[in-house]
Amino acid sequence: MALGEFDLIARFFQRPARRSALGVGDDCALLQPASGTQMAISCDMLVEGRHFFAGADPERLGHKALAVNLSDLAACGARPLAFTLALAMPQVDEAWLAPFSRGMLALADAHDCELIGGDTTRGPLNICITVFGEVPAIHGKTRALLRSGAGADDDIYVSGTLGDARLALEALRGHVSLPVDALARTRLRLEQPTPRVALGQALRGIATAAIDVSDGLLGDLGHILAQSGVGATIDTSSAIGLIAENHYPTWAGVDFSFDSVAITPLSLVLAGGDDYELLFTAPSSAREAVTAAAHASQTPVTRIGRIDATAGLRLLDAQGQPVSGRFDSFDHFA
Ligand code: ADP
Ligand code: MG
Repeated sequence: MALGEFDLIARFFQRPARRSALGVGDDCALLQPASGTQMAISCDMLVEGRHFFAGADPERLGHKALAVNLSDLAACGARPLAFTLALAMPQVDEAWLAPFSRGMLALADAHDCELIGGDTTRGPLNICITVFGEVPAIHGKTRALLRSGAGADDDIYVSGTLGDARLALEALRGHVSLPVDALARTRLRLEQPTPRVALGQALRGIATAAIDVSDGLLGDLGHILAQSGVGATIDTSSAIGLIAENHYPTWAGVDFSFDSVAITPLSLVLAGGDDYELLFTAPSSAREAVTAAAHASQTPVTRIGRIDATAGLRLLDAQGQPVSGRFDSFDHFA
């Protein structure tokens, strides 16, 4: 390696400690949890060829690697504090490391989330981040948003829009062709997702369950349903409303009559994946509070269905008729 391991860390990843008691440079970092809080911890790995294409833009990759982890904190309603970075790379390439760390640290700064340590080694490109956040706990009872709290008759909401990232992925795979500007916009959603950190925190005490949409709406909703022991009915017309022209000028010029693969606007919304939006439930009595949380966090949310006491997932069209079709979500081992 041209640049030594420790020089590399000092140059690209070591910055003065801010809120940590001790940051990069010793055997351990030290974090002091504030009283009355619990630590929310999550780990996500990005593997070349699996989660991103070889040759992916390093600045966007740095952003995305942290964004997917911040998205997990958002889903729990946690406030980001710090993260560690374990990085394997085939060689030391300063022209790659500089934009990679810039993209990652810019997002870190935007969320006041400090890089406090990590590990650096030679190997196939692999980026593994662990994030630490905090959530209040009152008399030891957590205020974190969990997957397990959805109750019968709760409303189901999703933030932002769904499907862009998958549409870009299918275009990059050569399965669909997109107009140049549509590819540029959807690609940004795929490569530089926005973690809904402010919304997640604003929903504490309002949402009964939450998850971030990484594998696809229906698959991730399935996790809430399983862990909450309930079922759901999704109004696909409101879900599809997420791709109405005002939401989705991007899709306006797209021809969905592909013959190679079964990609439709509905399949992209229901099973796209890589969206990093928040999917959450709240009682109907909390509709105003949800609207206020969305407003305060400047994040649009759309109500797309209802939790049922009966297990199972039902999809209805605008006329209330069942929608059929398979909408498989992403599974790395499928
Ligand atoms: P050790 O061998 O004791 O685990 P290392 O030599 O691996 O320590 O790392 C030295 C210091 O640099 C440690 O504080 C570690 O947390 C930090 N570090 C290593 N790699 C990274 C990285 N990619 N980003 C941030 N900090 C790192
Ligand atoms: Mg080490």
